[in-house]
This record gives sequence, structure tokens and C-alpha cells, in this order.
Amino acid sequence: MMKFDLTLRVLLERANQLFPKKEIITRDYSGTFRYTYADFYKRVNRLANTLKELGVKPGDRVGTLAWNHHRHLELYFGVPCSGAVLHTLNLRLSPDQLAYVINHGEDKVIFVDKDLVPLAEAVKEKLTTVKHFVVMSDTEELPASHLSPAASYEALLSKASDQYDFPDIDEWSTAAMCYTTATTGNPKGVEYTHRGLVLHSYTAALPDALNISESDRIMPFVPMFHANAWGLPFVCTFLGTTQVFPGPRPTPEDICAVIDEHKVTLAAGVPTIWMGTLNVWETGRYDHTSLRALICGGSAVPRALHKAYLDKLGLPIIHAYGMTETTPVVLVCNPKSYMQDMNEDDKLDLASKQGILVPGLEMKVVNEDGNEVPWDGRSMGELLVRGPWIAKEYYKEPERSKPAFADGWLHTGDIVNVDPEGYCFIVDRAKDLIKSGGEWISSIDLENTIMAHPAVLEAAVIAMPHDKWVERPLACVVLKEDHRGSTTADEIIHFLTDQVPKIWLPDRVEFIEEIPKTSVGKFDKKELRQIYADVAAV
Ligand code: ADP
Repeated sequence: MMKFDLTLRVLLERANQLFPKKEIITRDYSGTFRYTYADFYKRVNRLANTLKELGVKPGDRVGTLAWNHHRHLELYFGVPCSGAVLHTLNLRLSPDQLAYVINHGEDKVIFVDKDLVPLAEAVKEKLTTVKHFVVMSDTEELPASHLSPAASYEALLSKASDQYDFPDIDEWSTAAMCYTTATTGNPKGVEYTHRGLVLHSYTAALPDALNISESDRIMPFVPMFHANAWGLPFVCTFLGTTQVFPGPRPTPEDICAVIDEHKVTLAAGVPTIWMGTLNVWETGRYDHTSLRALICGGSAVPRALHKAYLDKLGLPIIHAYGMTETTPVVLVCNPKSYMQDMNEDDKLDLASKQGILVPGLEMKVVNEDGNEVPWDGRSMGELLVRGPWIAKEYYKEPERSKPAFADGWLHTGDIVNVDPEGYCFIVDRAKDLIKSGGEWISSIDLENTIMAHPAVLEAAVIAMPHDKWVERPLACVVLKEDHRGSTTADEIIHFLTDQVPKIWLPDRVEFIEEIPKTSVGKFDKKELRQIYADVAAV
């Protein structure tokens, strides 16, 4: 066979050659922006010429501080296809962490959205490698700022040629990088090769994975700064799929409006997003019937959320699992052909699992002694994965890489059980499991059971230290507005009594206004542990 490098250029050229008429749509600052893949391709060429003008060389890091929109998509291709490295920056990091990742990644240029300029300004004095800022907005005008030197994205592109000769690139070279929020210490960088991103795209698109087709109209709500928006911008461009972007600062209302207006067929986001949109859809103000499914992952999708979407909107949620370190798709939950006639309850039980391994990866589940545990749906162990789109190390962090990347496997830190059909259930992150009197309590399982209570909007469970039992569960519960003040802790405990083992019943239920969320919208248990540090100590 030919030696043929798997690079993002191949995805880009295919979209231009075969799908020039297909559309990319953004909810932009001043209304809807739409253009074709042919126009997109020309602008990616202009961007590549602009990068050259700015002195960006092969291997240089180019940071993006941006929402989900077509300009960010142009950077997704323009940067790596010209040989540089796309570094997506998490716009919810603290200024110190943001400065850390930009300096650690050695970014040379930062592309920043106009409404995020204050973030860049807040860190600019601390930046040691950045030579230019490029501000992205819907006009050529450069907004007034303290960034220097700074230029307007649209002005630079309008001056650049739309002809660019994309270089041949080794498939093993780095195309992109992203930092994962570490629980302790500074964020850790993960590099993605062209090869890894292309192979991930092939697999993610498969009918038995995320099931994406040219005929879809896809909206990634998951941020483009987090694990490449689960690879969707690459997959969709490869297939010529219509892409719909929610733009700056979208609210649940905006998401529902965009889905309605642009007849989105598939949208992807973390569970807290789909918890928020459910209320909006229930008002009946927006049509959701173009959707054939929602893709949901990043944290466990509660059974109650699957059920609510099916019962109220007739909409299935496809549960998926992955990590920044895994590009990210690892597990997707689709029933096998011979499971289709399961009853509704069993279907919901299955949908609440994270799914089976996507083709191309290998996994094993090991206990504390490193021995594999049986696939019996009960035995628990840590999930280990390896394959062509799994990272092999953290960027410039040999010491911190050792525990996670040992013996040729990525040690995910997630405790799972696997049923005899191969469906994995994430019991908990190892650090979130609650150890009570020699037994393990799954905080995820407990919170999902609490969230099935009709009065409960959100619930997160953490461990509190206990003299006798080592740790005991503390449940932080947000009640739906019309139940505040009327639902009691006893009612919650009573509701749980028949559904979980007795020793799982929380010792304490705290009603709070809102569960703190991480920078990517997951329940922030680190923050909860801090808030309840004193409660836990007694
Ligand atoms: P962060 O660490 O900042 O949350 P990641 O997206 O890399 O960023 O987090 C990956 C982790 O998220 C996984 O190790 C796992 O604990 C959790 N996770 C991802 N998807 C799921 C899911 N479907 N169910 C349960 N946990 C999930």
C-alpha cells in the first residue's frame, strides 16, 4: 500500500472538493452568520497566509481564547494544516492558570474573541512567549484594548490571499493541544497528532459510535476549548456535515432557539446543559422535533434525565465517555442488534451505562493488585485504555506522566464495572468513591438516584470524614423552584430507602441554591469539599 500520511489537510480538502455548497452557520454577535464550505476553505487559506505573515513557523503554538463559532473552526484547520499547533485555551480558567498554560504551551500568537479581550488583558503582563494578539469579531474594526501588538482577524483575512499551498506534514506531528484541569497542581497538557485526530474522526463517525452522516445538521454545544468539542468539528468537516455553532455566551434558551431555527439533528453537551434546556423545551416555545438524539457525556448521564427526555420529548440521549487524554471518544452506549426488544426499564438501565469500547481501542479493567476483574457487571476495577488516539504522556511533565501512563496503558482513574456484554458502567472517579466501613459507595450512583426524585433539580454527593466508618456520604441537593421550602431531608432519605443499600443513605442532606460547576460544566466536587470542610470535620 502507499505510504499516505493521515493529516487534517485531507479532511479539509475533501470538504471543499465534495461539499462546497454545504453550510456552516453561527449564532454570531450581530445575528446569524452563514457561509458554505467553499467560502470556509478560502478563508482557511487566507488564515494560513495570515499566520505566515505573523511569523508563525511549523511547530509553533497558536492559542485560541474563543467560543464555538466558524472563526474557531477556521483556526481548527488553518493552524494545523499550515504545520503549526492549535492550542485551545479554556476561557473559564483562573487568570493564574490561564497564564500558566499559555506560558507552558509557549504560545506565540493568541486569537481572542472580542468579548474575551478582558481575560487576555488580565494575564498579558504575565505572558512570556506571546508576540501577537488577534481579536476576532464580526467586523474589521479592532476594538479598543490594552493588548499589544493587536490586529483584527477580519481585517487581516481580508488583506490575505485565498490561495495557499498546504505543506506535506508528517502524520505523527502535533496538530493540537489542550490542557486538562488537574485536581491538584497546574493543568496538564495533552498533545494530539494529526494521525490521532484523523483516526479518531473515522471512528467517532461510525454508526455504532456517534453515528454521524453528511445529512446531519450538528451543533456542538460542548466547548471547542474542551477536548476538541469531542472531535465533532473534525468529523463534520470530513463528512461535509452542516455545522451549527451556538456562538458567544449561549444560554439554554439560545440553544433551544438555535436548534429550532436551524433544524439541528444532533447536538452534544454535558448533562448539566441538557438539564437546563429541558425546562425551556417544556415551555413549548421552541420546536425540538428536528433532533433525532442528543449526545451527552463528560459526566454520568442520570437515568432520570434519559427518562425525562424520552417521556417528555421522545428524544433519546446517546451516552458517551471520554477524557481530554483520549481525544476524547472511548465508550459509546448503543444497544446491540439483539437487544432491541428489551423492555423500557432495561433500555433505560442500559442507556445509563457509558457503553462499549469504540472500534480501534483496547481496554482492560484491573483491581488494586493489577489483576483483571471479571466482566460480571459487579466486580469493580480501574479502566485502562490504549490505542491510536490515546495520549502517551503529559506535555513536558515526565514525572506527572508516570502514574497515568504506565506499562503502555492510560490509567484513567475511573472505577468501572463491565457487564458480560461488554457495557461499562463508570462507578466513580477513584477519588470520589466514598469508603464507608470497608464498603465502597458510588457517589455517582447515589446522586443519580437522588436526581430521580421529582422535587430535585441537581444533586452532588461527597464524602465527609467519620471516626468510626472512615467516610460517610453528604448529599448536596438543589430543589426545583416550586419545591423549595416544602421538600425535607427526611423525604429524600425516605425516597432512597428502597433503592440503595442502607449503608449508602446519606448522613446529611444539605439544600443549596446551586451546585458549583467546573470550567466545563461538571459538578465541582473539589469546591463542594472546600465549602463543607468544616461540616465534614465534625
Ligand atoms: P476534566 O478532568 O477537566 O473534567 P475531562 O473531560 O478530561 O476533563 O474529564 C474526564 C473525566 O470525566 C473522566 O475521567 C471521567 O471521570 C469523567 N467522565 C467523562 N465522561 C463520563 C461519563 N459519560 N460518565 C461518567 N463520567 C464521565
